[in-house]
Amino acid sequence: MSKSDLFDVNGQVAVITGGAGVLCAEMALTLGRAGAKIALLDIGEDAMSEVSHNLDNESIDNIAIKTDVLDKSSIEEAAHKTISRFGRVDILINGAGGNKPTATTSPEKPFFDLPQDAIKWVFDLNFLGTFMPCQVFGKYFAEQQSGNIINVSSMNAFTPLTKIPAYSAAKAAVSNFTQWLAVHMSQNYSTDIRVNGIAPGFLLTDQNRFLLTNKDDGSLTDRGQTIVDHTPAARFGNPEDLVSTVVWLVAPSSQFVNGIVVPVDGGFSAFSGV
Ligand code: NAD
Repeated sequence: MSKSDLFDVNGQVAVITGGAGVLCAEMALTLGRAGAKIALLDIGEDAMSEVSHNLDNESIDNIAIKTDVLDKSSIEEAAHKTISRFGRVDILINGAGGNKPTATTSPEKPFFDLPQDAIKWVFDLNFLGTFMPCQVFGKYFAEQQSGNIINVSSMNAFTPLTKIPAYSAAKAAVSNFTQWLAVHMSQNYSTDIRVNGIAPGFLLTDQNRFLLTNKDDGSLTDRGQTIVDHTPAARFGNPEDLVSTVVWLVAPSSQFVNGIVVPVDGGFSAFSGV
């Protein structure tokens, strides 16, 4: 295989849930620039149109489909629309996910009082919102006898972070499920179906800015400073830091890479703190 073929995704079709989000928009751009066709699946229509527009500006063939990853019929409809438009699907990136303040402990809201609906919301979005697209597109991959799935986990999956027990547990479930599905698809359907995960370290995005920086002057909160102090790279990550791992995981030359969750964290998970 020549050097240029090693990471060739030209002509492949990538479905990206949460495609309107900060991290997945960057993944869409990178895969699109490498020649992949992109289907953005997101519940947020306005943000998704903006991402789609950015892809259009770079002449990247794409479709934006309003989808709720918690509604199986909505995912099935999105799969149908993607296949009608592009004829096939090769890659599924499960990026829809997140946390919410009501599922986060604080002096005002101790662990004992975290409400069930908030815990369920976080668990459903991160775990079921990964599980169900894997069911829908996994079935298609089984028929096609090939496919590539990337789930988005988190540092929390290796060691839980303080304050966010539901998000940590849900991402641990995503990592565990990634291993389960990798084995299941290979043993029952095709060894050309691979399932891997990516565990981003700490990126400063709108969803965690309130926890990591002070509103007034943008300086780091104690929590933000602790994270940077525990990151050997001594900084937060950027969405661009993740994309080379995504390209590597879906590359045809990575056929023997299956069932792993890759930390992309500036060394955070390797550092004991001492
Ligand atoms: P983001 O909020 O920018 O993107 C998440 C996207 O998911 C949004 O566009 C949102 O509209 C979409 N979404 C939410 N609910 C949905 C639903 N029911 N159906 C379809 N789409 C839905 O967040 P991000 O920082 O880009 O995070 C992307 C992924 O990476 C998430 O799974 C997140 O948990 C994970 N992650 C983020 C960080 C970080 O530091 N930002 C670190 C580790 C892991």
